[in-house]
Amino acid sequence: MLVTRNIELEMVLNGWAWVLERYGPGERYLEALDDAQRHKRGIWGATETNIPPWEFKRQQYSEMRLAKTSTKCPGCGGDLVKRSSKFGAFFGCSNFPDCKYKCRAAV
Ligand SMILES: [Zn+2]
Repeated sequence: MLVTRNIELEMVLNGWAWVLERYGPGERYLEALDDAQRHKRGIWGATETNIPPWEFKRQQYSEMRLAKTSTKCPGCGGDLVKRSSKFGAFFGCSNFPDCKYKCRAAV
């Protein structure tokens, strides 16, 4: 079988490119994407469940905004630190358990 060199496909195969669905990728690309994800190549090796770049940017932005607006505990003036629970991420007071303040982060 003749294999033509396809840089784009190789990028996807090696986990360096994201297949944008709006471009209507051929099945080969989706297979390559799936293969890259399964073998955790490139960007897929970073986290267990990868999130799309645009989604990641949006999350970073909302976290930045949250950090700017509420870094101090309104209850005792202590620092707010990001914590995570099985219910999701939230910002809690660093003086916990003395101070029970916590606010749910929109992340
Ligand atoms: Zn506090």
